[in-house]
This record gives sequence, C-alpha cells and structure tokens, in this order.
Amino acid sequence: MKLYEKKEACCGCGACGDICPVGAIHMVSDEEGFRYPEVDGKKCIHCGRCEQVCPIKGEKAGRGENLYFGVQAKDEALRRASSSGGMFPVLAEYVFRRQGVVYGAAFNEDMDVVHREAWNQEELEALKKTKYVQSNPAGVYRGIQEHLKEDRWVLFCGTPCQAHALRLFLKRPYPKLIVADLVCYGAPSPGVWASYVRYLERKSGGKMTQFCFRDKRNKDNGHVCAYVADGREQAHSLYGDVYCRMYFSNYIIRPSCHACRYCTVDRDSDFTIGDFWGLEKVRPDMEDGMGTSVVILHTKAAREIWEQVKEELNWFACKEEDVLQPRLKSPTEAAGGRKRFMSLYKILPFSIFRNAFTGIMFFRDLWRRVTNG
Ligand SMILES: Cc1cc2nc3c(=O)[nH]c(=O)nc-3n(C[C@H](O)[C@H](O)[C@H](O)COP(=O)(O)OP(=O)(O)OC[C@H]3O[C@@H](n4cnc5c(N)ncnc54)[C@H](O)[C@@H]3O)c2cc1C
Ligand code: SF4
Ligand code: SF4
Ligand code: SF4
Repeated sequence: MKLYEKKEACCGCGACGDICPVGAIHMVSDEEGFRYPEVDGKKCIHCGRCEQVCPIKGEKAGRGENLYFGVQAKDEALRRASSSGGMFPVLAEYVFRRQGVVYGAAFNEDMDVVHREAWNQEELEALKKTKYVQSNPAGVYRGIQEHLKEDRWVLFCGTPCQAHALRLFLKRPYPKLIVADLVCYGAPSPGVWASYVRYLERKSGGKMTQFCFRDKRNKDNGHVCAYVADGREQAHSLYGDVYCRMYFSNYIIRPSCHACRYCTVDRDSDFTIGDFWGLEKVRPDMEDGMGTSVVILHTKAAREIWEQVKEELNWFACKEEDVLQPRLKSPTEAAGGRKRFMSLYKILPFSIFRNAFTGIMFFRDLWRRVTNG
C-alpha cells in the first residue's frame, strides 16, 4: 500500500505515522533527503486512518473573517531573539501563564530540526527563530492530543501543512488549543542540511552546537547567518551562505512545496505569522531593522487572545493588500534543472555538490546578463 501517488502529493507532515494504531508506518528518507511514509503491509489492518489524517487529501478551511496586523514585541530582547517581530514568543508567554505547553521546532544535539515541547521560558529559547530545514514532528500530534485530553493549554507553531494535519488528527476543536502557522517559502531537504552541517564541522575541526539563520546583529531584519562550531563563532550574510543560496534559488525544496495548497491568507490555523515584507511602504516610521511580524487572525479564539496580548506589542492594523507577499499568493517555483541537481546530492560529497551549485549559479547569472543585453 502506498499513501501517495507521486512525490508532490506528500508534504512529509508525518501525521499518518502518528495516527496508525498498529505502528505500520515508518518515515524513510528518499534520495533527495526528504522523509516519506512507508507502510508495512504485514502489520496494516486497513483501518483507513492514515488517509483521513492526510492534509494533502483533507478538506481545507474556507474564507475566514481575517484581520491583518503589523506587530513588534515591546520587549526588545525578545524581538532580537526572534526572526521577525516576536509574535510567537508573545503567544508562548500567554500559554505559560496558564501552565500550558508550547510546541515548536528546535535543533537536537545532531543539529537535526525536530518539533518538541517547552514548558517554560528557558525551554522556549531553543524553539525561537526560524530554521530553514524541514522539521521532523514525529510523535507531536499524539503528544498534543494527550495534553489536550488532560485539559491543558497548548500552543503549536509550525508550517501550514503541519497545522492542517494537526486539525485533521484531532478531529474536533479544543478550546485550549492555539494553532499558529507560518507564511511558508517551502521546506528544504533535511538530508542536504545534515550534509552541510557535517561539511562545516569538518572545515571547523569540531562539532557544531548552534546555527542561527536570522541573526539581527546588523539591524538588517536578520540577514546574517551565524553558527558556532568547535567553540568558535562564524558569521556571514544570509545570501552568502551556500545552503541558504541553494534554498532561496529553489534547488533544495520539497516537491510538494512547489504545489503547496497553503500559499493563501486562508488557513486551518488561529494565527498566521510571517515577516512583514514591504513595511517601509506601509509604516516607514516603524522600520528599524529589528524585525516586524505580519499577523493574520483567522478565528474568534484568535481575536479573543489578541485582545489579551496586544498590550505587549507595538502594532498597527492594515489591509490584506498591505501584507500580500508572494508566498501568500502562490507557491515557490522550482528552479529549472532542480531534479537533475538533486540527483547529485546522494552521489557527491558535499564539497563537490557545493561546487556544482556554484558552477550552475555562475552560468545562470552569466546567461541572464547576456540575454538581458
Ligand atoms: C521554512 C520556513 C520558511 C518560511 N518562509 C517565510 C516566507 O516566505 N515569508 C515570511 O514572511 N515568513 C516566512 N517564514 C516565517 C518567518 O521566518 C518567522 O518564522 C515568523 O515570522 C515567526 O517569527 P516570530 O518572530 O514571530 O517568532 P520566532 O521566535 O522566530 O519563532 C519562529 C517559530 O517558527 C517555528 N519554526 C522554526 N523553524 C521551523 C521549521 N523548520 N518548521 C516548522 N516550524 C518552524 C518555531 O518553532 C517557532 O515557533 C518561514 C519560516 C520557516 C520555518
Ligand atoms: S490503514 Fe490503518 S493500519 Fe494500515 S497503515 Fe493506515 S493507519 Fe496503519
Ligand atoms: S499524512 Fe503527511 S506524511 Fe502521511 S502521506 Fe499524507 S502528507 Fe505524507
Ligand atoms: S510550502 Fe506548503 S507543503 Fe511545503 S512545508 Fe510549507 S506549507 Fe508545507
């Protein structure tokens, strides 16, 4: 039994693995380094639950009564420690005040990105900031359901497909669940990321212990990458980082992301959070280079929570057209030759894979210059 017809029809949310009552589903990495479910036909009892939970097949939310805001956390340290304006940690604090639990993406000891829980500010640190790597949410849907059944407050923050999968997994609304999803450019390959980490570790001569994709030291809205390997910090521009260039040039994104259903303002979440692109046109007085979140409220529950947290924020209301960045309109297009490039990933060491990419970019830029006169 196969759960998806073609790669575009599986976003790797892992909800099918979490719901299977007999443990028949395992997530296995493919030759591009993305996880896909495999079903053990001997264990499967044909209950159909894995099909019901799949966000690619499930019905999506319709048009909600969306409200749009630009947001900066008043607490400057908190905003600096986040990728955009710090809306996520403000929601997390709301849940901690109610003795609840927060789920988000963090690096583990091998620098893989996994979803995990946090019960206090100290544990929240690892969940803050964007990780441009597809996260592994294994076990999280089940864990959230258990906490909700114990009548706890739960905040989940993740990609829109994970948020939709969570709704399908739970089947019914829970008044103490808050779901925040992100504006999402696409999920880069965890396999390519792992190879990049090992490459940097070899270059630095020691283990990597931190990586920040959106460091704000230059007050440029987080366009610096900084990492610590062998106890030493290295920093360079976001677009100077070869892994990030592969990502933003659309070579290492999951196939399903190029056909994503969630590149819209209508979501299966309470809140959508992203970077406020084009702030300088809407509110130039608020552009200080330290990050601003665009926040979309979708539900009545979100509007009620907003009333209780807005005192902690500098904010302004705006219109849908003020926030409509590309990823709220259509999916990221795959780079020409993406599939061929990714076929090199399993056969080449990262140092050569990297050189192949640099070569492709050189000829692509040259071609553009020649054809543009
Ligand atoms: C892969 C990816 C692509 C993105 N693309 C865009 C985009 O095109 N346009 C845009 O405006 N915003 C995008 N964002 C969202 C943006 O970068 C910020 O995450 C968002 O604005 C929240 O910032 P914050 O300051 O409120 O909180 P932060 O403290 O920065 O919190 C970030 C939140 O994102 C979660 N998170 C981090 N990495 C991942 C991951 N790999 N998978 C799932 N959840 C994760 C964390 O758990 C945390 O809850 C993207 C985020 C990710 C992870
Ligand atoms: S049909 Fe049921 S038993 Fe079979 S893989 Fe799906 S969830 Fe598991
Ligand atoms: S539930 Fe998620 S991981 Fe499973 S087949 Fe559907 S998209 Fe893929
Ligand atoms: S682009 Fe779409 S399919 Fe890909 S991770 Fe984001 S929400 Fe999921």
